[in-house]
Amino acid sequence: MMKLKFIKNLVPKNVTGVCRPRCFSVSTKAEELAVGGLNFDLSDQQMAMKEVAAKFAREQVAPKAAYHDQTMEYPMEIFKEAWRLGLVNMHVPEAYGGVEMGVLDECIVAEEIAFGCSGVGTALLANSLASMPLLVAGSDELKKKYLSRLVEAPLQAAYCVTEPGAGSDVSGIKTRSEKRGKEYVVNGSKMWITNGGVANWYFVLTRSNPDPKCPASKAFTAFVIDRDTPGVSVGKKEINMGQKCSDTRAVSFEDVVVPESQVIGEEGKGFLLAMGAFDRTRPAVGAGAVGLAQRALEESIKYALERKTMGTQIINHQSVANLIADMAVGVETARLMVLKSAYDVDMGRRNTYFASIAKCYGADIANKAATDAVQVFGGNGYNTEYPVEKLMRDAKIYQIYEGTAQIQRLIITRELLKRM
Ligand SMILES: Cc1cc2nc3c(=O)[nH]c(=O)nc-3n(C[C@H](O)[C@H](O)[C@H](O)COP(=O)(O)OP(=O)(O)OC[C@H]3O[C@@H](n4cnc5c(N)ncnc54)[C@H](O)[C@@H]3O)c2cc1C
Repeated sequence: MMKLKFIKNLVPKNVTGVCRPRCFSVSTKAEELAVGGLNFDLSDQQMAMKEVAAKFAREQVAPKAAYHDQTMEYPMEIFKEAWRLGLVNMHVPEAYGGVEMGVLDECIVAEEIAFGCSGVGTALLANSLASMPLLVAGSDELKKKYLSRLVEAPLQAAYCVTEPGAGSDVSGIKTRSEKRGKEYVVNGSKMWITNGGVANWYFVLTRSNPDPKCPASKAFTAFVIDRDTPGVSVGKKEINMGQKCSDTRAVSFEDVVVPESQVIGEEGKGFLLAMGAFDRTRPAVGAGAVGLAQRALEESIKYALERKTMGTQIINHQSVANLIADMAVGVETARLMVLKSAYDVDMGRRNTYFASIAKCYGADIANKAATDAVQVFGGNGYNTEYPVEKLMRDAKIYQIYEGTAQIQRLIITRELLKRM
């Protein structure tokens, strides 16, 4: 297996900055094609990275997926190996010891890992969501302290926004931060936090202005809070429908004292920061959904070629073949939308519209593909001895976290209206 150094070697040295069109900057062939205005090729480096991720997913993730599903054990060993290979924290800038890859690069890896097990994929991607606000608006000091930490050791981080009383309605969160001199005191409880129990540090959104009339764009402040800060506690591991190895917990803050140097960006600007992170993370969530759908497709084809009824392989029954063809249509189109949304943000363009389409559509096609895969498998599909019932359970969360299917559609319509 190739090492982290290998992934580092894939990074071109002639360009700097996070928002760069990496797929066009390193491949002569791609550059030539781009002159025509469109290019669907990955660069040689991206192809090599995809191979590393695919090999890892198929050889080290997929064989352990059923074990982690049944035991709900956090995939720590897989995380460590992925970290060693450079398949987590891919966005961390070189200045902080990272490989500084783009969102598109992360999507390529996220799809492959989710093919192996989307629960593992979620556990690995949570670091990205937690550190994105820091990457966008954190001070140099904060980035050095927290992003470098993720690169120096296989540690986890978590994004703490949702609360028992507020998920879609982010502006309804009640966790408060109160300024006292050069410190803040944080009180409140977060819910459904991925990596909640294993995280070394948390991104935490708080309400800093108690006036209900204060607009959301000025009322919230975001912090980085160390897990071992006095007053921080985590709840029991939640038993979810799918992606069972991913660690989801409540995280509570009781009179937690945080120095003002831990504020990300400016006081009062946390809401936009927390929401803005999604432009960079939703493409990879969509990519994970595509990876799951691709798995459903491949498992279905294999099974439909083996299983015979009425004297022929079931793939020869047109209505079964149609289920498989529809899966392929979903996978191919959703993948394009993921790449488009990631490419745009890497190019420094506002991608909110495409990021929501990629996440929303990816989630929908993953659910359809997984359900149809169970159908292709018949009774066997409904049984835990076969891999597709897990895909169906795992797929559902893609329509819920990082903004539900309904919220994505609200965003898409809002963005459409802005364009009109
Ligand atoms: C496994 C898991 C992991 C998660 N990980 C994290 C994490 O790491 N960090 C984090 O902060 N959060 C996390 N979440 C929380 C997740 O983002 C929320 O559950 C999600 O945003 C929905 O919020 P809610 O559960 O409060 O549902 P609600 O907001 O109560 O929504 C209930 C239903 O109403 C619909 N709805 C609500 N408002 C509207 C509206 N305005 N228009 C149309 N429909 C609407 C929703 O689409 C949904 O169908 C996770 C959740 C789960 C289950």
